[in-house]
Amino acid sequence: MVIVGGGIAGMTTAYYLAKSGVASVVVERDAIGSHASGFAYGGLSPLSGFGIPGPQAEIATDGMQLHRELSKGLLEETGIDVDFRMRASLALAFTDADARRLKAALPWQQNQAGYAARWLDIEDARRVEPRISDETLGATLTEGGGAVEPYLLMLALTQAAERLGVTVRHGRVIGLRRHGGRVTGVVLEREVLSCATAVLAIGPWSAEASEWIGVPIDVRPLKGQIIRLQAPGPPIECSVGWGHNYATTKTDGLLWAGTTEEDAGFDEESTIAARDEIGDALVKMLPAMADAQVAQQTACLRPVASDGLLVLGSVPGLDHVYVATGGARKGILYGPAMGHALADLVLGRKTRIALDAFTPGRFARADPAA
Ligand SMILES: Cc1cc2nc3c(=O)[nH]c(=O)nc-3n(C[C@H](O)[C@H](O)[C@H](O)COP(=O)(O)OP(=O)(O)OC[C@H]3O[C@@H](n4cnc5c(N)ncnc54)[C@H](O)[C@@H]3O)c2cc1C
Repeated sequence: MVIVGGGIAGMTTAYYLAKSGVASVVVERDAIGSHASGFAYGGLSPLSGFGIPGPQAEIATDGMQLHRELSKGLLEETGIDVDFRMRASLALAFTDADARRLKAALPWQQNQAGYAARWLDIEDARRVEPRISDETLGATLTEGGGAVEPYLLMLALTQAAERLGVTVRHGRVIGLRRHGGRVTGVVLEREVLSCATAVLAIGPWSAEASEWIGVPIDVRPLKGQIIRLQAPGPPIECSVGWGHNYATTKTDGLLWAGTTEEDAGFDEESTIAARDEIGDALVKMLPAMADAQVAQQTACLRPVASDGLLVLGSVPGLDHVYVATGGARKGILYGPAMGHALADLVLGRKTRIALDAFTPGRFARADPAA
């Protein structure tokens, strides 16, 4: 069995398969976790985001549950602490429209077992984080979500998988070898790896696989940048957010602030414009951070499907070929649930969650020419 792509979707699939006794070969073009999966913010927020409430709600809470279990298992298996922790989030409103949107989400959020969400006025919000802006009209405090350190998670997953017999291979996949409706090999630039099962988990580059499988996979890259800062004062313990911006102090002691959403193709360079945009939003949320000094800036690409949903399941017309991508802004949260579900599919087991909305064949149906 070959898994293409050593991001979180590929490595969690390899890990859960190996836990069930199936050792795969993971083929990675660059380095494991060297793109978004190793550089994400690591927030785990199952009660908000695209498709929540909606088709992605179940996989979001499943991901949260699996992160809890996975962090303990990986510590035992590798000695690596992936720094999973429960972390409250404070979503700020600066306008009436912000407040209306946040309040409209509350009734559903308050119905989710294991989570708590409530509206706070500025005084109560200041008891959670005293440094929020005077312009804050109010905020939603959500508890039950968490955070993880994505780079350590990727390291631990890889070590644990390798100990269970998984092989990581460096190489760029350029196609599949097929015989009728079956896969017989994964084609690298200089060799072919024979296999009867292939999992394609190549993140923002997933559209390249359309030709390999003869089915369109409508996924594009959406660039995002993060700045890490030396910040004055005590750590920001919760995740403070406003729209698509957020900030929290991570275990490296730096304040991480993000993020942008940029249609920039496959460009992964960090830019001054993004640094300024993120810095402005940070100071709007937390004016005391105006004196914070940028220590590092990262840029990477999210895999986003044209309908915004995950792409997870078997490829129509090809036996034992699977796609796992489309994590978009929440691929770290979804990662373990994606890998677990794919391992179940590959092993012919019933999945814990429904995957109907995520079927890789849906883009062909959407394209009347296909
Ligand atoms: C700035 C930013 C912040 C984020 N913050 C969060 C967050 O707080 N919480 C959250 O849940 N999510 C977050 N995300 C989203 C998350 O990082 C992604 O959704 C997730 O990492 C995607 O994982 P993936 O495995 O699908 O893709 P990737 O991590 O991109 O992995 C795909 C891998 O496939 C390899 N590959 C591609 N083509 C080939 C080929 N032909 N042959 C061999 N290998 C190949 C690539 O080199 C890459 O390593 C964030 C993303 C960004 C950009």
